[in-house]
Amino acid sequence: MLNTQVGLGCTRAIVDKGILPHNHQIGQTGVVIKPKLYIGIGVSGAIQHKIGMEQTEMILSINTNPEAPLNSFSDVVFLGDYEEVIEQFSSQLSQLSVQ
Ligand SMILES: Cc1cc2nc3c(=O)[nH]c(=O)nc-3n(C[C@H](O)[C@H](O)[C@H](O)COP(=O)(O)OP(=O)(O)OC[C@H]3O[C@@H](n4cnc5c(N)ncnc54)[C@H](O)[C@@H]3O)c2cc1C
Repeated sequence: MLNTQVGLGCTRAIVDKGILPHNHQIGQTGVVIKPKLYIGIGVSGAIQHKIGMEQTEMILSINTNPEAPLNSFSDVVFLGDYEEVIEQFSSQLSQLSVQ
């Protein structure tokens, strides 16, 4: 059976902008998470953020910057604009069929 539990976390930059409340902040001054899969969408991977998510089993990074620190400790890296990457990814997923 599929475990479809998902959560939405963010960096401090997102909290500072008022986009999400502080209880979503992952990191040194936020929460520590340990999911099976972490998808970092436009996340630089600063050390203060890393502290909160480095115990993840698999890390996927989507970032325009090849030098983003998150890429260096990710299992999978998609280089590019997140909107384009997610669009292509969704389109390919929708073509898969479960046997
Ligand atoms: C004492 C202290 C405690 C802190 N505690 C925390 C904490 O608990 N948690 C935390 O997260 N931070 C914390 N910070 C802040 C931390 O240092 C970083 O500033 C913060 O994590 C950066 O957030 P960010 O990656 O979202 O933003 P940015 O550093 O602005 O990075 C944005 C990233 O998105 C990429 N990007 C931009 N546009 C696109 C696009 N269109 N498509 C794909 N990628 C794109 C960029 O290349 C960049 O890598 C703390 C800092 C201090 C000093």
